[in-house]
Amino acid sequence: MKRILVVTAHPDDEVGGFGGTLLKYRAEGAETYIICLTAGEAATHRGHAQDDEELREVRRAEFAAACNVLKISNGWVLDYKDGGLDRESSYKVVGDLVKRIREIRPHVLLTFGGEGGATGHPDHSVTSQLATLAFQWAGRRNRFADQFWTELKEHRVQKLYYQTSSLLIPDREPVAPAPTTCEIDVAKYLEEKVRAFRQHSSQEPLFEHFEMYLRKRSQHECFHLAAAYGPRKCESETDLFGGVEE
Ligand SMILES: [Zn+2]
Repeated sequence: MKRILVVTAHPDDEVGGFGGTLLKYRAEGAETYIICLTAGEAATHRGHAQDDEELREVRRAEFAAACNVLKISNGWVLDYKDGGLDRESSYKVVGDLVKRIREIRPHVLLTFGGEGGATGHPDHSVTSQLATLAFQWAGRRNRFADQFWTELKEHRVQKLYYQTSSLLIPDREPVAPAPTTCEIDVAKYLEEKVRAFRQHSSQEPLFEHFEMYLRKRSQHECFHLAAAYGPRKCESETDLFGGVEE
């Protein structure tokens, strides 16, 4: 059984750049997991929530509903600070991610690129850095060794991919995405992606714009192979599990 883990920053990040890929690999029998680092309480669009705590609860429920549409094996929303991931202790967050990687034992890890995705959100960029460190350190006996006092063992994830795109959003601050090395054909999952995003009801003012953006890049989700198990030359791929061993 192959396993994919996606690390994101906010509830709703799981849909745009990753949703079709998650649906495709789930349909092919893989297990799919999402760790979302914040509950999205700093969002501009807040639905009927009266305060941050209420918005956290609303967005956790929306995330669960979207995971349901995406047929995710398991998903978690953590409690790190939305809009302030760069001020969290990276040691703490990376340790948390390393522990979860050692529990889930994914073959492939997906996250944002250092540019922060098409929106360039700083939380996305920081998520990229934290997930990259967790990818590197989960497999080392000398990192977070206190975790081995339990049943946990080190785990080497075989490939790390950054989500990337050939389509930039106009009228935004500039971003410099990583080049695409792997294109996943997700055309047949477009309507399910739209339905997954619509579970995020508090973000309803974004629906029209988001759907237009999704339909424009409906054919593929693009990724950049950032690191892998052993040295290799860069090549064009169409399968995240290419060269992955059970
Ligand atoms: Zn986000």
